Amino acid sequence: MISVFGSVNMDLVAYVEAAPALGETVTGRAFRTVPGGKGANQAIAAARAGAEVAFLGAVGDDAFGPQMRATLAGAGVDVTGLRTVPGPSGVAQIVVDDQGGNSIIVVPGANGTVTAPSETDLEVIARSDVLLLQLELPIEAVTAAARAARAAGTTVILTPAPVQPLPDELLDAVDILVANEHEAAAITGQAGHEDAVRDLRARVDWVIITLGSRGALTAGPGAGPALHVEAPKVRAVDTTAAGDTFVGALAAAHVERRTPDVSVRFAGAAAALSVQREGASTSMPVRAEIDRSLA
Ligand code: ADP
Repeated sequence: MISVFGSVNMDLVAYVEAAPALGETVTGRAFRTVPGGKGANQAIAAARAGAEVAFLGAVGDDAFGPQMRATLAGAGVDVTGLRTVPGPSGVAQIVVDDQGGNSIIVVPGANGTVTAPSETDLEVIARSDVLLLQLELPIEAVTAAARAARAAGTTVILTPAPVQPLPDELLDAVDILVANEHEAAAITGQAGHEDAVRDLRARVDWVIITLGSRGALTAGPGAGPALHVEAPKVRAVDTTAAGDTFVGALAAAHVERRTPDVSVRFAGAAAALSVQREGASTSMPVRAEIDRSLA
């Protein structure tokens, strides 16, 4: 079983010709609300990839809370541990212009109230095979969850996004670090992928750096050289949440005790399917599609 201790946001997306400057008002062309947040996206990706998944986190007592709960539950995610707290849910206000550029304001809302895992969260984490963590909850809560998982023998997979300084106590409790190339460079200060992997491997047993259409570099667990796993050649139409799809599918394969290399290929196949479709969680493939693409 996989538990995800993480964020859930409602993405509020406005499409405009050109984004407004400060003090300016413009008329938008379209508007969409899309359930997201890295935690929720990874949970949905793992469930669609065939895993049993429990979500731990919080939504607000506004209109978005029940919608996001229903989206997670609809994907087969156990939402018993998703709390409703007074105040607004997490939101991401996104402006997309005609050039495809975007600007984003994230207001953590309910996510910001999760300053520590609850007793129930800790019980679920201890029962899990894998714990998925990202950095959209307060870092002290993420660190406490990672340490509890390590103590219970639960495998900890961390996505270090959004990038911020990582406390030693957190990194020391991580088994698998999955970073994209920008995150890996920011954390290590190394522009070269091989150098970044080497630095991170001094702290974490298994490091994966995702390289977009160029696939992923994986090193570990244990000793041995880094391996470059190519991404399937596909026509990408929307790469939103490609990384979250990768991580969710990787966790699902890991729970099934696939070997590391097979797990990375499975994750890459799932992410390649997701980029061929519009949307975030709605673009994530189900298990049968992933198996078919690998056959
Ligand atoms: P993020 O979404 O976090 O920025 P990446 O862009 O590195 O992360 O993408 C994560 C993974 O998604 C990649 O390692 C790759 O497996 C897959 N992926 C992303 N873009 C493409 C693409 N254009 N074609 C095939 N696979 C892709």
